[in-house]
Amino acid sequence: MKVVKFGGSSLSTGEQLEKVFRIVTSDRERKVVVVSAPGKRFSEDIKVTDLLIACAEQYVKFGEAKELVRAVLERYESIASDLNLSNEIIKKIEHDLLEVLESDRSKPDKYMDAVKASGEDNHAKLIAAYFQHMGIKASYVNPLEAGLFVSDEPGNAQVLPESYENLYKLRNREGIIIFPGFFGFTKEGEIATFSRSGSDITGSILAHGLKADIYENFTDVDAVYSVNPNIVNNPKEIKELTYREMRELSYAGFSVFHDEALIPAYRAGIPVNVKNTNNPSAPGTKIVNRRDNTNGPVIGIASDKGFCSIYVSKYLMNRELGFGRRLLQILEDHGVSYEHTPSGIDDVTVILRESQMDKAAEESIVNRIKKELQADDVHVEHGLALLMVVGEGMRHNVGTTARASQALSRAGVNIEMINQGSSEVSIMFGVKAVDEHKAVQALYHEFFAAVPV
Ligand code: ASP
Repeated sequence: MKVVKFGGSSLSTGEQLEKVFRIVTSDRERKVVVVSAPGKRFSEDIKVTDLLIACAEQYVKFGEAKELVRAVLERYESIASDLNLSNEIIKKIEHDLLEVLESDRSKPDKYMDAVKASGEDNHAKLIAAYFQHMGIKASYVNPLEAGLFVSDEPGNAQVLPESYENLYKLRNREGIIIFPGFFGFTKEGEIATFSRSGSDITGSILAHGLKADIYENFTDVDAVYSVNPNIVNNPKEIKELTYREMRELSYAGFSVFHDEALIPAYRAGIPVNVKNTNNPSAPGTKIVNRRDNTNGPVIGIASDKGFCSIYVSKYLMNRELGFGRRLLQILEDHGVSYEHTPSGIDDVTVILRESQMDKAAEESIVNRIKKELQADDVHVEHGLALLMVVGEGMRHNVGTTARASQALSRAGVNIEMINQGSSEVSIMFGVKAVDEHKAVQALYHEFFAAVPV
């Protein structure tokens, strides 16, 4: 049995839905279909989720959002008319949308989540109606009815473990199940959404709960590429990679698959297959527990901007009990989380996402480190990019770091820091953000394009 998930661009028009229908019905194993809200039809288009966010904001301020509501409804109407569906489904969607928009707005976070979730919820209803119209036994299943319970964290909900057992019962349901992605219900019966792009997470939770043989994640690319195609032309496709490799890559900018979505599939040992709705016969990329290591040390290179570092030095830091704890406590007091902490004997660098720290917070953090830790030197460097060179094969290959740093030096890129985790699945390089593209191209050339000598 397979759980399949389709992303917003695969569900944005009637024509796309016809492809989805063919994919699902061409394989009897495809029993559970998780769907997103309608996504972009072309690059300047607006996703229904973004329209809904704007609707909710206007409703909170002015108690109405006529034009935006119209824009949302038009998206469903045009899909329904492409597919010759009766007007009944549109009337139902209009009724449900207005009901949620008119609902209690005293808790704006929860209200926002309920409005956002309606995007996938209404689309799941429409898609179930379409499958039925085509003579297929299919039904919309509501996450509350199925027992998909999540924590009470609006916009960042986490699945509660008991959900898995509840979801297993869906196996007994006849016909195809059309399940809305992106949200679950708290124990109080309120809607809470996952983080953005969270329908991937729903698919993974369902695959785990239903003990599926595979989780197929349909999107609009043929495969996960070994490097960002906007930085390197025609990069190599990845046929197979491990959960850990995917996690490292998606951490630093690989956006094909939500990084939180790996956990439920990984815990149940269910392989994930990323495939293309527009080219379903292509094998896509498989994410698995273990793979044969046939491609050398590196499987992919990722990069992301928007980092900064706090450098702290103090003579004899290594002998001072609790220095690291107190340093990180200061960050915690400011609600700032950190990414890496490469260190020397008398110094440590804390790397964090820049967006977490405004000017005032930065000043206060630096002052507290100077005063409370009596540091000799503290300074913050902005505008950093992190590069991740990822591959399970690194463990068995000598000299990967040397090759990577030589490639960077040949390209004239100064390495600000290096960090190799003890898992030996990745090496991280910190470079100036202006050098990001040059650095990624140099690394790609070294590990993928250069002819081995
Ligand atoms: N529609 C939601 C979003 O745009 C969730 C998803 O598409 O996965 O974030």
